[in-house]
Amino acid sequence: MIRVVLASRNAKKIAEVRRILDQAGAPIQLIGLSDLEVEVTDVPETGATFAENALIKAQSVVDQTGLPALADDSGLTVEALNGMPGVLSARWSGAHGDDVANLNLVLNQIADVPDERRGAAFVCAVVLVVPGAEPQAAEGVVTGHLLREPVGENGFGYDPVFVPDGYDITTAQMSADQKDSLSHRGRALRALARAL
Ligand code: IMP
Repeated sequence: MIRVVLASRNAKKIAEVRRILDQAGAPIQLIGLSDLEVEVTDVPETGATFAENALIKAQSVVDQTGLPALADDSGLTVEALNGMPGVLSARWSGAHGDDVANLNLVLNQIADVPDERRGAAFVCAVVLVVPGAEPQAAEGVVTGHLLREPVGENGFGYDPVFVPDGYDITTAQMSADQKDSLSHRGRALRALARAL
């Protein structure tokens, strides 16, 4: 078992990542930034890709703590928006990170896009940095399409409008276990666990 810091203060995300890694049998004991005695400063996410941002976040925690660190970066890519909001998903409607405002902005932007061109994907990159070793990276993608109105109460972010391929419900209508089994984050973390 190695003790790894997840570059996040979000208790829900820590629980989700821990659950997926445990189920995948990864030899990792995960702790969050809030569990550390040292204060870790957030670093700006300046990368052009999800993988670059995940590496920036994980490396920054390693540099500040000397401990192994795991980071993820994720978002929604919309075909009709040429792949945007992408790495800007969390702040698409402004720096406040307002999930509802972000979702409504995307829906308005593609209001006139017909059903056959409403394809989208959730993408997640994860990077594990262990001091003195090469970073290990993995990516997970789930493709689907966007509805015109939000449906479902679970999940967060763009979940209420995202229907994965092969399903007729949104990821906001799924249980946590069902979403983990097909989600971009689940796929990325299981790929990383296999590589360890
Ligand atoms: P972060 O990587 O946790 O910072 O997430 C980036 C943004 O992408 C979030 O604020 C959400 O808007 C969106 N996002 C990432 N993963 C999901 C998901 O599983 N469901 C819905 N939205 C997501």
